Amino acid sequence: MAEPEFEQARKELVSTLENSTLFEKNPEYKKALEVASIPERVIQFRVTWEDDKGVCQVNKGYRVQFNSALGPYKGGLRFHPTVNLSILKFLGFEQIFKNALTGLNMGGGKGGADFDPKGKSDNEIRKFCVAFMRELNKHIGADTDVPAGDIGVSPREIGWMFGTYRAERNRWEGVLTGKGGSWGGSLIRPEATGYGLVYYVGHMIQYASGGKESFAGKRVAISGSGNVAQYAALKVIELGGTVVSLSDSKGSLIATDEKGFTPEIISNIAALKVTRKALTDLENHSFKYAEGARPWKEVGKVDVALPSATQNEVSGDEAQALIDAGAKFIAEGSNMGCTQEAIDVFEAHRKANKDAAIWYGPGKAANAGGVAVSGLEMAQNSARLKWTSEEVDEKLKGIMKACFENCLETAKEYITPAEGEFPSLVAGANVAGFKKVAAAM
Ligand code: GLU
Repeated sequence: MAEPEFEQARKELVSTLENSTLFEKNPEYKKALEVASIPERVIQFRVTWEDDKGVCQVNKGYRVQFNSALGPYKGGLRFHPTVNLSILKFLGFEQIFKNALTGLNMGGGKGGADFDPKGKSDNEIRKFCVAFMRELNKHIGADTDVPAGDIGVSPREIGWMFGTYRAERNRWEGVLTGKGGSWGGSLIRPEATGYGLVYYVGHMIQYASGGKESFAGKRVAISGSGNVAQYAALKVIELGGTVVSLSDSKGSLIATDEKGFTPEIISNIAALKVTRKALTDLENHSFKYAEGARPWKEVGKVDVALPSATQNEVSGDEAQALIDAGAKFIAEGSNMGCTQEAIDVFEAHRKANKDAAIWYGPGKAANAGGVAVSGLEMAQNSARLKWTSEEVDEKLKGIMKACFENCLETAKEYITPAEGEFPSLVAGANVAGFKKVAAAM
């Protein structure tokens, strides 16, 4: 069966590994790549549940246990009608190397179902979660496989699934992350992906400007309006930047004044999202609405772009539009947010324009903050401890700094940038993540 998303993710990794000196230095890693390209295990199951009319419904459930060389399989669950094995294999594959880049001991996995929470009642979503976990519980455990949220799975769904796990297995253990704060969840987990993304890009800005610049005064285009986009936006605003766009699957809101999005507007958007409403339902605002469009061609002058909605949300054309709009930094809050064409446009510009170039930070490094704090949640659960927000945030900052430096130094060592060229963070992330996993294998 064709697996286009998985093939895209695999090719993206392989092409950068082949253009580095990694296989020259470690010929045995070629075999590790062949082995790591096949999941250790794929679990597929039927999920039957009863809708509000009493009618039986059926969905396809999955868990891809991709690689456990570094620790228990770790990665989110996605509930979305587009979910299939290709999507979950791409996400699971990315997750292996992302998790390695956190420096914590976590393997890679991903799961989910083709269930669409849109248009379902709370009761129906709860019934689906219970039915899904009745089967999944047989295959996971705190030392085996630790799922979390992803698109369509928030702390509420994690709660329903966690309760089902406890009931089915008669065990309280840290088998899911992203739990509620009062029952084992880590503080800062909801914020972690968005905050971590902004910390990572902060290091890119600092490095590129020789320590002279930060987010202060920067215009930042963000796509998406879910958990990642919301907390990235709030952190950008806290650091003195202006958020000029947010979006959902139907269109984009574009700022028309200098202020951009305020924390109040973001909290109104968060409230809309809880009830699964669209951005068009936002009241009393002064934004331009670009129907059916992603923000990239609509935002005007920007300094930073943070795709934070879903995979393949920046095309080659849109990448060029961002360069034309003056963007200097692009980093993915979403997994595989950029198409290969977009990455090629950014990487060619980086090479050709030296320190006037756009610089691209790939999701497996830039959005690793979410799973990193999931790793910290696992550690707190195992130790039966709870750390303060400040402690977790400090650790997150340290992990994102180390992750950036690892990508940078690995790129310098294995790709050797030309004089004056920013090192390729996409190649650095791929080589650094893969090298750690291959060595462990
Ligand atoms: N779904 C998130 C990701 O793509 C988080 C996974 C986790 O916390 O396990 O990294």
